[in-house]
Amino acid sequence: MSGITPQKVNYLRLSITDRCNLRCFYCAPAGEWEKLPAPEILRYEEMLHLARVAVAQGIRKIRVTGGEPLVRRGVVEFIQGLHQVPGLQEVCLTTNGVRLGELAPGLYAAGLRHLNLSLDTLRRERYQELTGSDHFLEVQSGLEKAASLGFHPIKINCVVLKDLNDDELLDFARLAQERPFQVRFIEFMPTVSRRKWNRHFLPMAEVRRRLAVLGEREPLTRKTCAGPARIFRFPGFRGELGFISAISEHQCPECNRLRLTAAGRLRPCLFGAAEIDIKGPLRQGADDAALGRLFREAVNLKAWKPEFTDPDTFHPCRQMVSIGG
Ligand code: SAM
Repeated sequence: MSGITPQKVNYLRLSITDRCNLRCFYCAPAGEWEKLPAPEILRYEEMLHLARVAVAQGIRKIRVTGGEPLVRRGVVEFIQGLHQVPGLQEVCLTTNGVRLGELAPGLYAAGLRHLNLSLDTLRRERYQELTGSDHFLEVQSGLEKAASLGFHPIKINCVVLKDLNDDELLDFARLAQERPFQVRFIEFMPTVSRRKWNRHFLPMAEVRRRLAVLGEREPLTRKTCAGPARIFRFPGFRGELGFISAISEHQCPECNRLRLTAAGRLRPCLFGAAEIDIKGPLRQGADDAALGRLFREAVNLKAWKPEFTDPDTFHPCRQMVSIGG
């Protein structure tokens, strides 16, 4: 068999670091997490090698993630390198935006256009509560810098948290009304205690219900390498709104993603415990055919049918900061 069933798994989320400059309570809490010793983190040339192997296996889109990818030194040159991987059609970055203002010009010059910005509040004080840091103004100016340089699409990802930020749904929607951004609402995944998760989980159906005042929504067609968001246009909007219901309407049968962690482990599924070590074989000199087989093995371990029915069975193994979302 040659190649990952290419029409299916064509999107790799590549985490380039497990370090982050924020401490969002649901992702990288202040209690700290076990960080990888530097030699355990894949080097950039190793990631570029694996990116070429992945493309040979049918991957067409790579999203660079973290931790926070923009805290790793050399990220701009790495992203430039990814743009030179033959056959790779899309390179995207997901960032919390803290260092975006500073790095956006270099990233743009490196060829990057697709940007996802994670931002759960539009209020400075609340930002501090949610992220444990006072970087709101930097994020805001980073976003403006990216928009003025011409990054497109710019997607803003907001994890909806009941009683913490769900009073801002219309403010976020307004952002997509006034600016050509795609604002995506994301269901809170159970990465915290069951009690805390129950307390702050808000189903996407409820988010859509509250946004019904915006008028009739028109669904947009999904692109081949698209992620799990359902995207809609609303009357009078310059941008779009997206909804990601990973919990209430999980979409295993149409999942087109693999993940590669900074530790060099392939993860078939965000919700499962399975991981395949690819760094070990790579460092022991495995050839590309053998590495390609590991990608196919990871695809074969994907849960194509919805198995995730109870949040108690959710098993990301570690905090999201170590996986990359
Ligand atoms: N630091 C980068 C960023 O902020 O985009 C990339 C890594 S971060 C882990 C990727 C995404 O995962 C962020 O949008 C974050 O909000 C999301 N995330 C983390 N934990 C989550 C959870 N429990 N539920 C939903 N989304 C989560």
